[in-house]
Amino acid sequence: MAEDDPYADKRRRLLDEIEQDARDTAFWTGRKAFSGRTMAAIAAVPRHEFVQPGDEVVAYINRPQPIGHGQTISQPFIVALMTDLLDLNGTEKVLEIGTGCGYQAAVLSRVAARVHTVEVVEELGRAAGDRFKRLGVDNVYVRIGDGYAGWPEEAPFDAIIVTAAPARIPDALIRQLRPGGRMILPVGRAHDRQTLTRVVKTADGRVRTEPVLSVAFVPMVSARPNDREKKAND
Ligand code: SAH
Repeated sequence: MAEDDPYADKRRRLLDEIEQDARDTAFWTGRKAFSGRTMAAIAAVPRHEFVQPGDEVVAYINRPQPIGHGQTISQPFIVALMTDLLDLNGTEKVLEIGTGCGYQAAVLSRVAARVHTVEVVEELGRAAGDRFKRLGVDNVYVRIGDGYAGWPEEAPFDAIIVTAAPARIPDALIRQLRPGGRMILPVGRAHDRQTLTRVVKTADGRVRTEPVLSVAFVPMVSARPNDREKKAND
């Protein structure tokens, strides 16, 4: 980052807090520290560019922040944890569901080859796309649409991350995960706590799920309201 970055100190302190949180939650997550690549990505992304105007001063507090439309950008520690749990080496094609302000996608763009991200709220998706252009993030592709369907034309993905909570793991996303791939997502009822869950698809196509941590995410909604009932009942 530039020497004259007024947020450099705040960002460094945030990294310390994330390291502390990682130690404090290691019993559940199995990781007492995140990789150097994950931490370097958090250190490099200017989070103050992703919050709402006027909220820049709180951008580096280790808390979720409102991003408009009743949505929130996750707590930086959770962004780091979910990124780390994908075990990316820089060659992967990643799918994100829930672009929001684009912060998580921008972090992923530094540890993966490319990121395809789907957002159901058109204004949020467009604003994130503009932000990527302005910040020179050129390996993130945004689609406005219903994340329950994934992004079939670009499948399969080496890794999938969902940043809104579905009641159960969407089938389309399991289908679009490459054998050997990882998925991380909160699973559980809306307006309740959910279980951050890691899904591994083995080379022979079997699916294994591991609970990681209790979390609180905004619900994953359906673009078509009628589907919501259908999904809840099937
Ligand atoms: N990753 C985001 C956090 C976004 S909060 C960030 O870094 O800012 C969750 C986002 O998921 C919201 O923007 C919400 O509109 C979106 N969302 C909810 N249901 C969705 C669905 N079915 N498909 C795509 N996006 C969805």
